[in-house]
Amino acid sequence: MKNTLSLAIVPLVLTLISASATPTKVPGQLSNLLHEKQIETYVQNIIASLLHGSAARDQQAICKHITKKISTPTGWEKSYNLPVERTQQEVYQAVLSGILDFVERQSFTLAKKETGDYLSTTQISEKIRNELAYKISSTDNFIPGELSEFIGKNLEYKVQSTCYYMSIPYKPFIKRYDEKKCRICFNRFNSSRPWIYISPCGHDICTTCADTYFIRQDKVRCPACNQFVDTYQIRMNLYIPTVL
Ligand SMILES: [Zn+2]
Ligand SMILES: [Zn+2]
Repeated sequence: MKNTLSLAIVPLVLTLISASATPTKVPGQLSNLLHEKQIETYVQNIIASLLHGSAARDQQAICKHITKKISTPTGWEKSYNLPVERTQQEVYQAVLSGILDFVERQSFTLAKKETGDYLSTTQISEKIRNELAYKISSTDNFIPGELSEFIGKNLEYKVQSTCYYMSIPYKPFIKRYDEKKCRICFNRFNSSRPWIYISPCGHDICTTCADTYFIRQDKVRCPACNQFVDTYQIRMNLYIPTVL
């Protein structure tokens, strides 16, 4: 009885598999050389399978980013004016690391919006990056759409749930300004000049100035809008224990 049943199911399963996109397998020793145009098509096919189900706009953006990177002539190709050629395996690896890059940058932008401070933003985007890197390194036979949870709307949900699981409570409850420069020193924010937001107005300030201005000089008004600020919240954002 059991055998008959499973035999009856097999054709159905086979039909289902062939009807949907085929799984993307990591090319083993395949060394088929691809030329420039073929590289582009191959990248598109892999992306279409890995990110199956995600928005076409997101897929195109990633495709463009990866194709450009893998099709840039190497030093040898450049100096001897050789045609650009890559093995299938090279292209496949470039797609995976390109997706990793892309997801890291996207989750950084999303987490900054969500939390408003640099430290949490870095923690969240690193956590998501590691999750994806683990998935990539431990899987050699992806099912279609397996990585689409890291793209577009799904990535937004992932950033939000990561905030929640990491107990990062500071989603600013007011309108946020998306500033690129510090309100006091006018230097651009970057990884060596991290920022925090001033609560409750939401202006951005670099951590060095926040420390000098609000903590050492004990100022209590925002340098941008002159509103009274929540210095406790600023201390928390700076990870400086409140001195009683
Ligand atoms: Zn500053
Ligand atoms: Zn302000």
